[in-house]
Amino acid sequence: MNIHEYQAKDLFRKFNVATSEGKVFENENDAEEYAKSLDVEEYVVKAQIHAGGRGKGGGVKLVKTPEEVREMVKSMLGMTLVTHQTGPEGKLVNKVYVEAASNIKKEYYLSFVTDRATEKNVIIASPEGGVDIEKVAEETPEKLLTQPIDPVVGIQPFHIRKIGYFLGFDKGQVKQLGPLIQGMYNLFVETDCSLVEVNPLIVTDKDEVKALDAKINFDDNAEFRHKEYKELHDPTEEEPSELEAKEWGFSFVKLDGNIGCLVNGAGLAMSTMDIIKHHGAEPANFLDVGGGATVEQVTQAFKMILRDENVKAILVNIFGGIMKCDTIADGIMVAAKEVGIKVPLVVRLEGTNVELGKKMLEESGLNISTASTMKDAALKVVELI
Ligand code: ADP
Ligand code: MG
Repeated sequence: MNIHEYQAKDLFRKFNVATSEGKVFENENDAEEYAKSLDVEEYVVKAQIHAGGRGKGGGVKLVKTPEEVREMVKSMLGMTLVTHQTGPEGKLVNKVYVEAASNIKKEYYLSFVTDRATEKNVIIASPEGGVDIEKVAEETPEKLLTQPIDPVVGIQPFHIRKIGYFLGFDKGQVKQLGPLIQGMYNLFVETDCSLVEVNPLIVTDKDEVKALDAKINFDDNAEFRHKEYKELHDPTEEEPSELEAKEWGFSFVKLDGNIGCLVNGAGLAMSTMDIIKHHGAEPANFLDVGGGATVEQVTQAFKMILRDENVKAILVNIFGGIMKCDTIADGIMVAAKEVGIKVPLVVRLEGTNVELGKKMLEESGLNISTASTMKDAALKVVELI
């Protein structure tokens, strides 16, 4: 789960990660009042959306006076901000963050992520900050330092020195880096993050080290032990169809192709998309109904797939493990009758009671082709479109 910069910065303050003074607003009057109360020469107005690249997209603006803060907040609220991370449709700005501007000497990159390969949390640092870090990783990987942290011993003084010197920090700056990294680490572990990213981390003209941007992702698997996730969740940032699917208990991601996919299991759903692409077509969605889908869920899934006008055929790829294939066939038949599927349907079933399931579909009188292997299913559905 993603949260906004202002929420991430509130958490930074709680964990003693140095950041600028700032506050979030939903109207220009309060923003102006707040700006007047800040004793600074310059302000930054930042659109709050769940996407980066706001600076280049016009969502981060420096202004000089509280009146200009007012005007800027007013013009940002309600605007649709397009950045390289939002897609061409952009994102609606509902909240704006106002903070004291910093005089930046240099921008750096610092993040914490979980590295599944080493089964450790790692710190990633780079002297190339404020830019696309993926580009740095690709073009100049020597400018990235990846430091694994042993979960038993946590952050050690040598980690701080190593990162500090890699970034080219002097002694005074390394000293400030200690509590900052320790704070980020505590935040990462205690609130079960999958990402804490500061891009840019800056050194100011007064040699202060602080986080200028803040991005946090929580690990959804830890939701059950963090009641606060719910309060931090902003449903306006999510795809309505993905939210709807979540309420029904399955995952759905809309894509640009024309073959609708109904699959159980995320891995199987991904390989189904792969095999469709392999045979020259494009999937219209990713849909994982889960291991024990009910007839109601299957029906809802069909409804969501069919809402997409691009869908020219549907491929159902189900492995009957937890559920029996005849139960699934039943679900498909009920759903097909209830929803009224007008496009061709290819069904590939495998697992317990597969013969019975196939027989039921063949005798159902519905426009369904059955397939025995994934390849067979993919070829059939690609041919049908
Ligand atoms: P995004 O990553 O979405 O573009 P950032 O918060 O990283 O947004 O801001 C983009 C750039 O704007 C930063 O790299 C920095 O140069 C500048 N900036 C952001 N906040 C401030 C601030 N408080 N003071 C001065 N410059 C800032
Ligand atoms: Mg940034």
